Amino acid sequence: MKKLPQIQHLIDGQIVGGGSRSQDVFNPATGKAEKRVLLADKLTVEKAIASAQAAYPAWRATPPLKRARVMSKLKILLEENAEQLCALLTAEHGKVLSDSMGELQRGIENVEYASYAPELLKGEHSKNVGPAMDSWSEFQPIGVTAGITPFNFPVMVPLWMWPMAIACGNTFVLKPSERDPSSALLVAELALQAGLPPGVLNVVNGDKEAVDALLADKRVQAVSFVGSTPIAEYIYSVGCAHGKRVQALGGAKNHAIVMPDADIANAVSALMGAAFGSCGERCMAIPLVLAVGDATADAVVAGLKTEIAKMKVGPGTDAANDMGPLVTQQHLDKVTGYVEQGIKEGAKLVVDGRAVKVKGNGYFLGACLFDNVKPGMKIYQEEIFGPVLGVMRVKTLQEGMDLINAHEYGNGTCIFTRDGEAARYFSEHILVGMVGINVPLPVPVAYHSFGGWKRSLFGDLSAYGPDAVRFYTKRKTITQRWPSAGVREGAVYSFPTNR
Ligand code: NAD
Repeated sequence: MKKLPQIQHLIDGQIVGGGSRSQDVFNPATGKAEKRVLLADKLTVEKAIASAQAAYPAWRATPPLKRARVMSKLKILLEENAEQLCALLTAEHGKVLSDSMGELQRGIENVEYASYAPELLKGEHSKNVGPAMDSWSEFQPIGVTAGITPFNFPVMVPLWMWPMAIACGNTFVLKPSERDPSSALLVAELALQAGLPPGVLNVVNGDKEAVDALLADKRVQAVSFVGSTPIAEYIYSVGCAHGKRVQALGGAKNHAIVMPDADIANAVSALMGAAFGSCGERCMAIPLVLAVGDATADAVVAGLKTEIAKMKVGPGTDAANDMGPLVTQQHLDKVTGYVEQGIKEGAKLVVDGRAVKVKGNGYFLGACLFDNVKPGMKIYQEEIFGPVLGVMRVKTLQEGMDLINAHEYGNGTCIFTRDGEAARYFSEHILVGMVGINVPLPVPVAYHSFGGWKRSLFGDLSAYGPDAVRFYTKRKTITQRWPSAGVREGAVYSFPTNR
């Protein structure tokens, strides 16, 4: 049997082995195992943490401007290596190349933001808070930080985390998804080329064993996680129990409302991309449409049906295709299971993507469209994370908003309308973290922050942007006084005030 190339770890600036277990990495478009990824054991993770710990004092002392220059250089290297990176991404994830390029671009924006670190770390200063007394707050790095990331954005989500952590003066251990680990590793190697000292960023590949080692280790001060809600909740509770700062972003079930006055043709186009882009494997995807009124629902369903008929499904490497495969056979089985479940529950399957056949053994599923989805159904409640879009019929905007507000997830949402008053009411009262008005995927740009509400985010601070500065630093407030020499002051026993 042919020996598959092995994906290892990056520890202390070196590509190294570690751990006796490994697992296959598949090309989802062919169904073939192309590589094997090593699964780090506790000892390997501890080596990575030790390397990050050793690199911390010198990196912390490195002027922020110098740290930021590494980010500027990395941005250039990411652009120069975009083709190779995206080819790797598509080969392991399956998404079409143009989508991989989009993902990389959004990742690069976070590297760009991290290169503003000197500006972002300036702190706050107040003069004369008391007689001859000044006070300032500065934001100090916290030490070794860690990130655990999902399969669906293997380049972008790691870049939500470590560039800001590192630009703020911390060191980092990244544990990417074991399903498509190569692109995150390549980005880390580019960071070394950009001038990052060994040990500042380490990458350990692995599964639960590696994650648990990161969570239990006292040297790790903070953990950022992005993935499914059950694991996010686990990371949050275990990480907090070990005294760490934790932000854990979880799953989603995003609803779009289509109002009767919306530009239906444009709403349908927007919904196509939001539901089926990246095969629905996006935490900001729209798997549910709430159409207000039967006439709106009929028009939306008819429009979607027409557009789906034009969609091309096939390998992501072929630029003619709109949608690639799902990530693994196991995930394909799970998603088709939901299609069967929806039929059993009484929703009307208008388009059956299971009929789409692509040559070979790839994990392809065509776009599926359900009408008459109802709140009690599993396909309404649970995150499917595949190309399955459900339409629900509601009578009023308020009925739609009540459904959204009652749902356990609150990541993203969107309203399609021409009515400013309705849009304003919606954005004011909806219990969701990221809201679009005629924008189907309201993913905040890198200089805002990304985070859902309810069971889509555990922790207080969102990912990237200004919140990342707060997450990866500790505020220290210093108050200083330089009384005039020779002035004698008696002891004061009352609480100091500013009278
Ligand atoms: P996942 O939860 O299965 O895995 C995420 C990470 O957790 C991986 O690195 C994995 O190795 C690790 N992990 C898995 N099981 C574990 C366990 N039992 N103990 C410890 N660690 C474990 O998620 P996924 O399937 O890779 O990604 C898809 C999910 O991520 C979806 O639910 C999606 O909504 C979510 N997601 C959320 C956001 C967001 O910003 N809210 C963004 C992207 C993806």
